[in-house]
Amino acid sequence: MSVLDNDPLTESELAEIIGHGELVPLLAALAHLTGDRRYLDPGCRPRSATVLGRTVAGSTDSDDAALELAISGLRAISGSDLDTVDPTVDRDLIEYLVGAPIEDGTEDMLRYQLGIPHDQGAPRWQASPSSDAGLSVAIIGAGMSGILMARRLDQAGIPYTVFERNADFGGVWYENSYPGCRVDTTNYIYSYSFATRDNWTHDFSMQRAVHGYLREVATELGVDKNVRFGTELLAATYNEGSCTWQLKLNGPDGPYDAEFSAVVSAVGQLNQPKFPDVPGIDSFSGPAFHTARWDHDVDLTGKRVAVIGTGASAYQVIPEIADRVGSLTIFQRSAPWMEWTPAYADEVKPGLRWLFENVPTYSHWYRAYQFWITADARRPYYTVDPSWDQPGSVSAENQELRQHLVSGLARQYQDRPDLLEQVIPSYAPYSKRLLRDNGRWAKVLHRPNVRLVADHIEAIDEQGIQTSAEHLDVDVIIFATGFRASEILEPVDVTGTGGRKLRDEWAGDPKAFMGVAVPGFPNLFCLYGPNTNVVVSSSLFFFAESAANLVMSALEHLDKTGAGAVECTGEALDQFVAEIDEASELTAWGASNESTWYKSASGRVSQNWPLRVVDYWTRTREFPLEKFQVLRPAVRDKELVR
Ligand code: NAP
Repeated sequence: MSVLDNDPLTESELAEIIGHGELVPLLAALAHLTGDRRYLDPGCRPRSATVLGRTVAGSTDSDDAALELAISGLRAISGSDLDTVDPTVDRDLIEYLVGAPIEDGTEDMLRYQLGIPHDQGAPRWQASPSSDAGLSVAIIGAGMSGILMARRLDQAGIPYTVFERNADFGGVWYENSYPGCRVDTTNYIYSYSFATRDNWTHDFSMQRAVHGYLREVATELGVDKNVRFGTELLAATYNEGSCTWQLKLNGPDGPYDAEFSAVVSAVGQLNQPKFPDVPGIDSFSGPAFHTARWDHDVDLTGKRVAVIGTGASAYQVIPEIADRVGSLTIFQRSAPWMEWTPAYADEVKPGLRWLFENVPTYSHWYRAYQFWITADARRPYYTVDPSWDQPGSVSAENQELRQHLVSGLARQYQDRPDLLEQVIPSYAPYSKRLLRDNGRWAKVLHRPNVRLVADHIEAIDEQGIQTSAEHLDVDVIIFATGFRASEILEPVDVTGTGGRKLRDEWAGDPKAFMGVAVPGFPNLFCLYGPNTNVVVSSSLFFFAESAANLVMSALEHLDKTGAGAVECTGEALDQFVAEIDEASELTAWGASNESTWYKSASGRVSQNWPLRVVDYWTRTREFPLEKFQVLRPAVRDKELVR
């Protein structure tokens, strides 16, 4: 019995359905379901989703043949095929997805993202109840990384408690409730590999949906039983005698102390709002708030509103409020680059939904494919060519991207050359993350009640904003000015071995081996730590899952050996940082002189991962014992165990 027997569809209806999805993952799914390699015929390979209009694999000529093949496949797959999906996935299927020879760890990485079999990141070991280590873990933060870490610890049978200063799960997805907030990485990869969903209403969900997803996963997995909401970590001190961490916490019932054998910081990078360093900022008499602390009690209707900043948050909030405010003045210091994404705010197309519902494993192949085409395929577009000397780009490919983006802007502002001049950035694309443009930004800038001001802000006073050119009276100021990303964990007084303070060690320029471990702070691990943010590729869920794997492998070592703690060596960190710094210089964002949250005050790129995505994957598979010292309780001098 075919999947189409209950739902007879014409050739053109099937073609439309397939057009709402992607042919490459569909053909891979059909080959997987049926075992028939005819679907992988290289002569029928369709074009892959392209990077900036460039074909990655396949050709236009193959598209019709591929469509025909896919339609025949949908007619052929039968009820019995659907019930028994082969859990093994052969290499040729993965190769087909990529469309090119696969390098080193890419096959395993994509298999992991494919999620067949389910949850390959689950620890394959159980904490031993009799272990000397007697592990217990404090997780700081119940956002995306905190929930993930809780899941992994739970799977290994390690007791944990999550401490969260907010009243709910979600981290940034709880805190950023400004109008228009939505994800800019498709949900099919902006989700846990162990908790994928086929029922997103949008490809790029609104904040409420992402927050709902995180809360739902946390509850389904039982993390809610081990979380202390409204509880802030004030201080964490490592005890060298016992190899444990003493925590000072402030909860709903007041301050208290707790002790754990390890601490995982899951506070992320974007949790401390940044306000501009402008004289008089506190003197404004009207409401003034940051996008990440949106004041829902302030009615903007008819008001003269100023928004400072034109980054990702401003870009999302401004079109949402422009039609109800009286006037809107946007203060732009530098224009953002935007990637044309016309369907950015659209609902999931019915054809894609149909494929998810009717073709088993299709959603898995779709996810792996989405991951792959945004992973390392874009690398040439942000890699610096040292011999390239054209201003505003860093290589021929980057220049090609620049021209592509400029032509998109020219199309949208052809009637307003004055605006066009203002919205074309002077810096190279990918010096900052590209925003997703569905035309709303140009529309909003065309509105008669909206003005884009590029003059320098000199001061803020009781009535409004003084620029280098004029004074503007406003009723409300909204700061869309980003976050103090490089001040990770700064509000917490973290003390490691020999009384050293993390705040002083990092001094606003955080460094951690693989973004996870810091010398002098044994058994302190970070998720979404220094140098693990992504500007162009992949998904933060993937990076956090990879980092969590490294943390779990360190804990496994402690459990199996009965040691008290592991501490990354200074040498390992120095080598890592040297490699990262060298690679960062060859990225568009590293080579750029733009002020971004990617760089610390010293100018070093402290937040982003500059190597390939697959490099982070391969280096977080196993515990690199040679990069760590192993410490034992009640031994003051460090004992090297190898
Ligand atoms: P941001 O990207 O750091 O942007 C801050 C904006 O404020 C920039 O336009 C900046 O100008 C401007 N600014 C800062 N100080 C200023 C001053 N003194 N005068 C005038 N302008 C000033 O912050 P964000 O928009 O909140 O985004 C931060 C990150 O959060 C993003 O990169 C992204 O990773 C994440 N995010 C994601 C989404 C999403 O779609 N999922 C949404 C929001 C945020 P310059 O550019 O000149 O520095």
